[in-house]
Amino acid sequence: MKKNFLECTLEEFEALVQDLQMPLFRAKQLVNWQGKAIQSFSEMTNLPKLLREKLESLYYPGLAQAEQHWISKSDASEKFVLSLVDGEIIEAVLMKSNYGSSVCLSTQVGCKMACRFCASTGLHFVRNITCGELLGQFLLLEKYSKKRISNIDLMGIGEPLDNYDEVLAFIRRIISEDFRKISARKICLSTCGLIPRIQELAEEGIPLTLSISLHAPNQAIREQIMPIAKKYPFSDLLKAAEEYFARTGRRVSYEYAMFSGVNDSLDAAFELASVLQGKNCHVNLIPANPIEGVSFSPSSTKQIQAFKNILTKRGINTTVRRSLGIDIEAACGQLRRSSLLDGPGLK
Ligand code: SF4
Repeated sequence: MKKNFLECTLEEFEALVQDLQMPLFRAKQLVNWQGKAIQSFSEMTNLPKLLREKLESLYYPGLAQAEQHWISKSDASEKFVLSLVDGEIIEAVLMKSNYGSSVCLSTQVGCKMACRFCASTGLHFVRNITCGELLGQFLLLEKYSKKRISNIDLMGIGEPLDNYDEVLAFIRRIISEDFRKISARKICLSTCGLIPRIQELAEEGIPLTLSISLHAPNQAIREQIMPIAKKYPFSDLLKAAEEYFARTGRRVSYEYAMFSGVNDSLDAAFELASVLQGKNCHVNLIPANPIEGVSFSPSSTKQIQAFKNILTKRGINTTVRRSLGIDIEAACGQLRRSSLLDGPGLK
């Protein structure tokens, strides 16, 4: 079976060129080509034909394939339905701003976590996405962006910490000198709260931004909307976040999607303020997005503002996130395996 070209190391390339009795600098050239979003090895015109033929026999290029592509009419964010080498379908989003482009990538095909507000719920978990496939998503979106990607959100389909080794391999590669040298601080990894993995991540020495999907001010409400809370209780999760900050010096972000009558009461705001009091953290209030098949309804703008005011007055650093790409179902919680190519109805 052919291997993903994007997953090969310099050492593997060195062994390959030595086998072909070619000079070692060819291996470095191959590493450079890994960053160039090639669709075919025939594009590698600075390499001998023999080497290109050998690559063709051993590897596939690894660039994700765009099956469908939508551009939001409201904010120009772009959603991609991508196919992987085995035909599995995932989604990724490109967001452009004056400061550079950001991408939101998927880390698994489907998800096991079953958060009740998420479009990925209801889709069975199929498999993890490999480091090479994450690079393939990144390279494809960068190609469409035509600009340097400055920020990466690991917030698409899947729970990144449930695919720890591949996601970490991707992060190490994307921040490395010989790939894109993206600042680790510009990579945001979002988790529903797998505590042992958060603890492991704190020991990696990579200063990325950890974002915890909290979505509730206490255990009872969290359990209602996020089954994972039964395994990793609310208070333990906050403790793990504190330890993460103590170990890394990186302030943790808490994501809080607002659902009318579920977690958006003023009492909930007071309770959240009280549990976060004195912690070095940031709260992102997310106006929930309409999701087909999900019964929760979004909180009103007035309620979100009142909730925010309570947190802010109690010294909790809080912002209300601007939702991008709602019309193309590219916003938070809206990514799924794309009704398997039916898409959101906008083309
Ligand atoms: S919110 Fe994230 S962790 Fe929860 S079901 Fe959706 S993709 Fe999985």
